[in-house]
Amino acid sequence: MKAATFIEPGKMIITEVPKPLIEKDTDAVIRIIRACVCGSDLWWYRGLSQRKAGSLVGHEAIGVVETVGAAVTDIKAGDFVIVPFTHGCGHCAACLAGFDGDCINQEHGGNGGYQGEFLRYTNANWGLVKVPGQPSDYSDEMLNNLLTLSDVMATGYHAAVSAEVKPGDTVVVMGDGAVGLCGVIGAKLLGANRIIAMSRHADRQKMALEFGATDIVAERGDEAVAKVMTLTNNAGANAVLECVGTEQSVETAVAVAGAGAIIGRVGIPQKAEMNTNALFRKNIGLRGGVAAVTTHDKARLLDAVLKGEINPGQVFTQRFTLDQIQAAYAAMDKRQAIKSLLVISN
Ligand SMILES: [Zn+2]
Ligand SMILES: [Zn+2]
Repeated sequence: MKAATFIEPGKMIITEVPKPLIEKDTDAVIRIIRACVCGSDLWWYRGLSQRKAGSLVGHEAIGVVETVGAAVTDIKAGDFVIVPFTHGCGHCAACLAGFDGDCINQEHGGNGGYQGEFLRYTNANWGLVKVPGQPSDYSDEMLNNLLTLSDVMATGYHAAVSAEVKPGDTVVVMGDGAVGLCGVIGAKLLGANRIIAMSRHADRQKMALEFGATDIVAERGDEAVAKVMTLTNNAGANAVLECVGTEQSVETAVAVAGAGAIIGRVGIPQKAEMNTNALFRKNIGLRGGVAAVTTHDKARLLDAVLKGEINPGQVFTQRFTLDQIQAAYAAMDKRQAIKSLLVISN
């Protein structure tokens, strides 16, 4: 089978590799229909984090189940599924607490990457999210909406849930990548009244407004803080979604948070240290981490997509085949695409 393979920073190729097989009775083998490139993939693509040469990549997909292990009873061959990057077992303390992204029984990655023709998915019985019907029952747009539930939409929503966004809240969203844009959708879904999106790019500002943002702040740093304070009559926000992960973004998040606000953090932290004294001065809460993808999909997001309440698939602004993998990464690396879609099979 064909699979996207990392060679060195800036270089992706397609290689022929053995098709994965069931190895444990909790596995499933999935035929991938659509996959995509994640903003987090750019860390190793740009050489900013380590990755083994020759490794298979990708962690977001939708597909159809080919075979299941003996212990997989809730999912069967032929099922159409969302394939989350998390592999929650559904029964450990972390999963039961609603944090399947922190499942203590995870074996990340299975037998290969999601950017390929087939994938071995571990903890399949609970971790996979069954979609009614077959891929052919859905429009192109709906397939893209469903694909976002494997990571990006669930991660944006996780930021909003972590920040405890409530009806009527004023929310600031930091970051105009696909996760930040999905954070806008998440804040709206939880009833935010005012959503202030921080974005400097016209195409992303437009999408943020379509997704439910009420105000755009294009400034950065101190100027951005001043703008938010003006917009909120110096009260600051009730909740802040931090979807970048840089030190400056976290500092700005703290500065725009009002007294008692919670910062929901899903941007992967790039620095080890943080001055928590600034949190103390305004009773600010800080939480967040790896998204509970399966939990959020089953509780809210799949239903919201199927009912047409949310339309997150618009984040895929460019589409590629598997053979165009290099171009798919380059488009995101150069910020030409908000998110690159890979159409793999029907
Ligand atoms: Zn991702
Ligand atoms: Zn678990």
